Amino acid sequence: MKFLVQKFGGTSVATSQGREMVATKVVAAKEEGYIPVVVVSAMGRNGDPYATDTLINMVKQVNRNISLRELDLLMSCGEIISGVVMVATLEKMGHPAIFLTGAQAGIITDNHFTEARILRVKPEAVLKHAREGKIVVVAGFQGISEEGEITTLGRGGSDTTAAALGVALNAEYVDIYTDVEGIMTADPRIVSDAVTREVVTYDEICQLAQEGAKVVHPRAVEIVKQKNIPLRVKSTFSDAPGTLVTSSGEVYKGTIDITRDRTITGITQIPNIVQFKVNTSAGPEGLKEQRRLFKGLALAGISLDFINVYPDQVVFTVKEEVAGKAAQVLENTGFIAEVIPGCAKVAAVGAGMTGVPGVMASIVDALARENIPILQSSDSHTTIWVLVRQEDMEKAVQALHREFINGAR
Ligand code: ADP
Ligand code: MG
Repeated sequence: MKFLVQKFGGTSVATSQGREMVATKVVAAKEEGYIPVVVVSAMGRNGDPYATDTLINMVKQVNRNISLRELDLLMSCGEIISGVVMVATLEKMGHPAIFLTGAQAGIITDNHFTEARILRVKPEAVLKHAREGKIVVVAGFQGISEEGEITTLGRGGSDTTAAALGVALNAEYVDIYTDVEGIMTADPRIVSDAVTREVVTYDEICQLAQEGAKVVHPRAVEIVKQKNIPLRVKSTFSDAPGTLVTSSGEVYKGTIDITRDRTITGITQIPNIVQFKVNTSAGPEGLKEQRRLFKGLALAGISLDFINVYPDQVVFTVKEEVAGKAAQVLENTGFIAEVIPGCAKVAAVGAGMTGVPGVMASIVDALARENIPILQSSDSHTTIWVLVRQEDMEKAVQALHREFINGAR
């Protein structure tokens, strides 16, 4: 059986016109000879009646301390409503369909409420209904623990559901349908002339996603990558081919190295970051202090980013929501920190930059022309990060986009 997993995000299923477009994509897959398995998100965004954030707000108005277990039960409703309405739409159009919750579809997770991880998929129910000729619609973002508790998978969780089903069914593709035409060179909300990439590697999209491009969840990419199942990002609202995500060794249009003709694949950003600078003693005393510093933060469960260690100084960043806690831990362990709030991380990602000289020089150049100071920087084979003031973030993304994408470097 040739399976195609098709995942539709919140904006795709929000309106009846959207749902009809969804149904058209599903029926087209069937006509091409695929057995479509459809994964849906909840309908719409915060404020829409059955959107996940709307449900959360409703219960939090009653009691802010609602338990995570109950919160998961409530949050799992959005996808159930959406999936049942999708089945209704498909059947009205003459296509037999059936809806399965995450639990019914065999999505088995750990018991970490609101951030559960998929442990395995038992695809028997999906296979049974598919064999009977039905279009199976599965609730994204949810599963069931081994103890029988309903769990949810965290933000972007429907992408993960689709990826896990794709692997379990050995699907030909996992298609992520959304409100943009594919993976773009920058967030179109910041760069109006961002362009859609025809093809990107698993590693590039993982980096882009981790660095703020929320178009696909990085965990979903990791899952399909393990079994080398190609993923495509497409628009529900057009017939554009979208972006193919595959491994760099894959032959694509006669060329093996799909990133050969570009240095940078995309620019991304993460706002709301706080930088910490802590002076320590130099010499052996300083080493002891630095050990104490990192240990204290680790014990408090604070995850650090952008870490630079010097003989007499430690510089790092944390997300804004844990900055207060980090400052407290430092104070309690006897350190005086310089705290710089209101920072943002801007990243240039591209497998093609490996071994190419002068990328950092171009970044510094492009930002200097806009008078944007770089507060800190870091790099790997495929990514260069700079920390800037949040007020400079959009300008920095636009400047790097002009330098590397419009300038076609
Ligand atoms: P869905 O509800 O379909 O899952 P998301 O909001 O999670 O949709 O993802 C799609 C959005 O991701 C787009 O509307 C776009 O604004 C944003 N986005 C951010 N960076 C990128 C990028 N590099 N390429 C494409 N979209 C991006
Ligand atoms: Mg999403």
